[in-house]
Order: sequence, then C-alpha cells, then structure tokens
Amino acid sequence: MLRLSPEDAPRIEEFIRLVRIYRDTVIITDKPFEQYSLWEKAQLIYAMRHIGKAHRTYAKMSIAQYAEQFRHPLIRKFLQAYFPVHYNVSSLFFVFGIFTDGNADLPADGSRGMVERMVSRYQSLGGVLQTGWEAERVNIVNHKAVSVTFRNGQTVEADYIILACDLHHTITRLLPVGYMDKYMYERFIAHPEKYPTYSSVNLYFAVNHRTTTIPEARILDLTGLHINDKPIPYAFLKHFNYEPSFAPADTTLLQVLITQYADDFQYWQQLRTDNYQNYRTEKGVLAQAVAECLTRTFPELQDCLTVLDVCTPATNSRFCNAYQGAYMSFSLTPYNKKVTHDGRLRGLRNVYLAGQWLQAPGGLPNAAVTGKFAVQRLLHDHTMERPIDRTSLKKQAGTPAIPDKKKLPD
Ligand SMILES: Cc1cc2nc3c(=O)[nH]c(=O)nc-3n(C[C@H](O)[C@H](O)[C@H](O)COP(=O)(O)OP(=O)(O)OC[C@H]3O[C@@H](n4cnc5c(N)ncnc54)[C@H](O)[C@@H]3O)c2cc1C
Repeated sequence: MLRLSPEDAPRIEEFIRLVRIYRDTVIITDKPFEQYSLWEKAQLIYAMRHIGKAHRTYAKMSIAQYAEQFRHPLIRKFLQAYFPVHYNVSSLFFVFGIFTDGNADLPADGSRGMVERMVSRYQSLGGVLQTGWEAERVNIVNHKAVSVTFRNGQTVEADYIILACDLHHTITRLLPVGYMDKYMYERFIAHPEKYPTYSSVNLYFAVNHRTTTIPEARILDLTGLHINDKPIPYAFLKHFNYEPSFAPADTTLLQVLITQYADDFQYWQQLRTDNYQNYRTEKGVLAQAVAECLTRTFPELQDCLTVLDVCTPATNSRFCNAYQGAYMSFSLTPYNKKVTHDGRLRGLRNVYLAGQWLQAPGGLPNAAVTGKFAVQRLLHDHTMERPIDRTSLKKQAGTPAIPDKKKLPD
C-alpha cells in the first residue's frame, strides 16, 4: 500500500496500527457471556483494553466514510470491497485482525466437509439425525412446548427443543406470535431500516483446465451489468484449486459473488413468483454477461467456461427460509449497537434458540457457537430437573443413525 500511494502513508500506518489493535478481540466461544463470573468478565475487559478507545471512534464510522480519507482510488476500492459500505469500519479492522492473527481460515473440504464431521461426531455419541423434514409448528400446552409437527404430517414429541432455523421464520411461522420479544420486534417489525441485511448472487463456473493466471481471490471489474435497475460495477472472483475435492482433476471451479441488498431480494423474489421463466432467463443473461467479463479479463478462459449454477437471494430463501434472502445476520452499522440475544424465549422454558441471528453480524462461527450456547443454557437451566444419563448415551454409540421415522426418540 505504501509503494502504491506514498502520499497516504500516515493513513496507511494508522490502518495497520488499528488492525494490530483489533487482534486483541476475544471471541467468546467457551460458554455464554451470562455464565461468566465477575472475575472472568473483568479478565475479558482487561484483555481487550486497547480496543476500547479505537472502538469508540470507529464503531460509529461507516466503511465508506473511512475509505474517503484515502487519496488513492485503488486503496479506497480495496477498503470498500469486502463488506457492504453501510458497515461500521471497526468490523473491517476486526476481520483483518483475526485473519492476520491466524484465527480465521477456511475449513477443510468447505462447509460440506465441516457438516459431515459434525454429523459423524454427533452420531458417534448416539445422536440421531433426521433430515428433509420441514417443521411447521411447535405445539405448546400450558406454556410448555410438547412436540413439533412437520410438513410431512409427522409429529415428534420432545422434552426440550432447540430451534436452529432462521429467526424470522421461527418467530413468525413456527411459534405463536406472542413469543416475539423486544429484540425481535425492534429488528423485524418496528425498525427494520435500522438493521439492514445483505445477500448475494453467486455464479459458479466450471473451467475445463486448471487455471494458471487467476489469483485465488480478487475483485472482478464488470461493465454494463445491471440488477434491479442498479449498475453492478464489480464482483468477487474466487477459485477453489486448493480444494482437490471441489472439482474433478485438471479442472477448476470458479465462484463470482455479487453483493445484493434487501430491495434486490424483493426484486428476485417478485420475479420468481410472477414469472418463473423470466426469472430463469434473467439468471441466464447475468451468467452470460459475467462469463464475457471473465473471458475479457482472463484470456485463458476463452471457450473453456461452462455455467454450473446461479443462486440468487431468492434461492437462499427457498432453501433455508432465510430472512430477506440474507446469508449473514444483521449488518453492524455505525448506528446500531452490537446486542446479542440470550437464546431463550420468555414464558417457554423448554425451548432454546440457535443460529446467526442471535449474534450480529452472523456468519458460520457465530452460528456454530450459538448452537453450543443453546446446549449449555439448557443444561444450566434444567440439569437439576433431569440429569443426563451418559452411560445410556455411550451404549447407543454406533447404533444405526436413522430409526423408524414414526418412533423418533424425544
Ligand atoms: C455463498 C456463501 C458464502 C458464505 N461464506 C461465509 C464465510 O466465508 N464465512 C462465514 O462465516 N459465513 C459465510 N457464509 C454465511 C454462513 O453460511 C451463514 O452465516 C450460516 O450458515 C448461518 O447458519 P445458521 O445455522 O444460522 O443458518 P442456516 O445455515 O440457514 O441453517 C438453518 C437451517 O434450518 C433449516 N430450516 C429452515 N426452516 C426450517 C424448517 N421450518 N424446518 C426445518 N428446517 C428448517 C434450513 O434449511 C437450514 O438448513 C456464507 C454463505 C453463503 C451462502
């Protein structure tokens, strides 16, 4: 950066200093914050003491405002490329901080590999998994959840229930509306404009050889591309050559990600509902335009590209019931505070929540950790009522994973 723009030197030095400071961020993963003792809380505050001052300034500044301070257009572009520009800039320092500190990486075999490892661990402990059943409602009797009814007509009884679906879907579809609390009401009903979300269109291409001129990740400049009547100046390009399992030998998988916002989600959703054929055509036109930009930028791709898939925010909603088609949680803007939800529902003691919407800005690590917290909260609140019989769990290990669908254990 200094070589590129010596006149930005003071700002670049300050940027690097801030990234170093944010390396001190402690991500709480061992147990929920409310289970921390006073001493543990004090230790946490002490460990992050250097961040406090910087955070007071930069949590209130948007990335766009911060980027404007730099003179060189490429540095401004680089700073604004990763997050939507309405994000506060401290989120950016945090991401660079944990990345340069070696505390952020890609899981081996991608998300699928990670899921398979979790499933295998769960099953090895006697856990039973039933996929492909869409929950329709949680049945409540006398302020206690007693069972879940699924779309296929099955009802499964339970002592405790952890709802790990999208929070908006959970609170508006699976539970009676009375369980919506202040956190949810503020974000989904009262002031959604204060809690913006974002999403993406993802285009996947197969290349019939192993690419040599494309960097692992870079910004792809686009020309003449529009979605929802808005110009799309650039996208993120990524290849997966480092993952041998992602594509057949001597071929390459490319991903192009275009950032989208809540109004774009409405656009795609409306298009899909009104005229499915038009929706498909629009995806095809987009893929063609992006393929042309790719080929223009990297001549080695000429006549070598095949479109594999185009996923829009409407796809996220269709597959995951995702609120506004978002794949991350609420954005951290300069105007909202980072508040987390404790995963409990008032008046329903045997139901717990998990998922990225409890801890903005979401993402995989946040989602995973809320699952762990849900179990810890359940154990904390109910251990005295019903101690867990670990010997029976051990005995079950190694038994077939999927039992008779009608006789799922509680
Ligand atoms: C292309 C892409 C790239 C990403 N890259 C990153 C990244 O690099 N780093 C990162 O941290 N995050 C990344 N993310 C975001 C990450 O995937 C999410 O933050 C994470 O998956 C959220 O987890 P979750 O458990 O809260 O929700 P989900 O993963 O959406 O899980 C909820 C599950 O509930 C299911 N469900 C919904 N309704 C019902 C119902 N009624 N009954 C039964 N099941 C239901 C859904 O099908 C879904 O499987 C990326 C996402 C995408 C799409």
